[in-house]
Amino acid sequence: MDLLDYPTLLKRLREGLPQEILESSRFKVPKVDSFIEGNRTFIKNFREICDILARPEASVLKYIARELATAGSMEGSTAVFQGKFTRDVLDNLVERYTQLYVICPICKRPDSEIIKQDRYQFLVCKACGARTPVKPY
Ligand SMILES: [Zn+2]
Repeated sequence: MDLLDYPTLLKRLREGLPQEILESSRFKVPKVDSFIEGNRTFIKNFREICDILARPEASVLKYIARELATAGSMEGSTAVFQGKFTRDVLDNLVERYTQLYVICPICKRPDSEIIKQDRYQFLVCKACGARTPVKPY
């Protein structure tokens, strides 16, 4: 019997799996872990969410604050918004951001980046190479 080194083993294992399972297991946006204190709402796992989305915290923060029509700031790895917002509302916004600014509309994969060109912004997919105009915010 052949002894396989770990990378080879992993490769063989992956080849046996349908692509969809690989994609969904690799990319899973966590639910918002939030709480309300006084008149402010805190998202404790904000940095973790941005890391998984591979987007700058400032950029995601700006989008969510704009959608909530309020002010947002970072306190360490926590996002803070003025006003009281439920988890459902915040989860929905993270989901919408992911669909609009992370997931490639052509191949549905999350390996992408936002490129700014003059007044325009594009979602450039690293998987299939598609270049999709996205609305700046
Ligand atoms: Zn793509």
